[in-house]
Amino acid sequence: MSGDEESIKRMADFLKSGATMLFEHCPQCGSPLFKLQDEVRCPKCDKRVVIVKTGEEIPDVSKSDLLSDVEDTVLFKLQEVSDRVREEKDVSKLVALGNLLSTWLDVLEKVREIQRV
Ligand SMILES: [Zn+2]
Repeated sequence: MSGDEESIKRMADFLKSGATMLFEHCPQCGSPLFKLQDEVRCPKCDKRVVIVKTGEEIPDVSKSDLLSDVEDTVLFKLQEVSDRVREEKDVSKLVALGNLLSTWLDVLEKVREIQRV
């Protein structure tokens, strides 16, 4: 039996035993990976694979990390805008900056709301 046939047979076996196909691919051979219970396996290499997150997908576990990143960014922007407001004398520009501040504050509020969930 060729390697390809073997890997197809293993894929079928994985699926039969309730494994799910993942979006991730094997770093060695590029085959789609399967999750069987707590193990991720490559049907072609026939071994366990440890998935290293590339940042393309946002798994649930890092939701709070992402949100605190956003929060940091928003706080940084708020600081920037606030510094500019302090130095700005032009009223029309102050209005624009005020709108900007209010927008960032809205974002901040939303981020903190989501974090509480
Ligand atoms: Zn592989």
